[in-house]
Amino acid sequence: MHDRFDPDCIFCRIAMGAAPASIVAETPLALAIMDINQPTPGHVLIIPRAHVRTIDDLDAETGAAVFGLTLKTAKAVKQAVSADGLNLFQANEAAGQQDVFHFHVHIIARFAGDRDRIRFGWRTNLPPRSELDQMAGAIGALLQA
Ligand code: AMP
Ligand code: ZN
Repeated sequence: MHDRFDPDCIFCRIAMGAAPASIVAETPLALAIMDINQPTPGHVLIIPRAHVRTIDDLDAETGAAVFGLTLKTAKAVKQAVSADGLNLFQANEAAGQQDVFHFHVHIIARFAGDRDRIRFGWRTNLPPRSELDQMAGAIGALLQA
């Protein structure tokens, strides 16, 4: 059992083999599993084995394992289902539309004309360059090595 395990968490139970899952791939630190919901064929989740709630708690080693497996799996998904395109999606906190509070990256296969099944979007808002520059500086100053 991993040292960061939450018995009430469905993804922790999947990671330790205590709940059913259709496993695509396993590494020492991460798993790729089929999402139970397949709005289009080819919806896969990449999860760390450890119980990591959001990106705030994701350390560099675990993050590298999750995103490394995401990269490999995304290419395999696209090929397996002959997708026309692909989305990566990752939700943090309720405000970010997270429903399962164990970090995960969605890989979503996309097909021409599937927008009645999957919708992403945001309104257009184009601030002046000065505002963009100020925000870039503020964020850049907080980057951790
Ligand atoms: P999110 O809204 O980003 O937290 O996504 C949670 C995802 O987990 C949804 O796409 C669910 O369909 C999926 N999900 C929930 N329970 C399971 C499960 N037991 N096995 C696989 N996927 C699951
Ligand atoms: Zn968990």
